[in-house]
Amino acid sequence: MIRIKVERVRTMPAQLESGVLYVSEEFETAAHLCACGCGSKVRTPLGPTEWRFTDHPEGPSLYPSIGNWQRSCKSHYWIDRGEIEWSTQLTPAQIAAGRAAEERRREHYYAELYPDRWWVRVWRWLKSMLGH
Ligand SMILES: [Zn+2]
Repeated sequence: MIRIKVERVRTMPAQLESGVLYVSEEFETAAHLCACGCGSKVRTPLGPTEWRFTDHPEGPSLYPSIGNWQRSCKSHYWIDRGEIEWSTQLTPAQIAAGRAAEERRREHYYAELYPDRWWVRVWRWLKSMLGH
């Protein structure tokens, strides 16, 4: 888990440290080093139509997410209460859990739609035979 802390500044320092979200309320801007570690500076203007910065006791939040599409790392993450939450780098367990949930939703959907169809019962029987 990568954590990021807030540091209030007036103007952005020339050298940014990783793990620090620099916030200048006076100039309505925030900056940090890309959370992937590539060293890119990420500038996020703050404002009603830009990013929204919230300072929680646990740490800073920025909304919406940070998408570094134009950089070579293409990283995409959220800064949420001082934690970096990756959106693209899912662990295999998360991917499997997502697929299982999807499967359950689909099954539930068809079961509600066609509760008495023979193939729904066959499908359930097959699934039970396969140990799911
Ligand atoms: Zn990066």
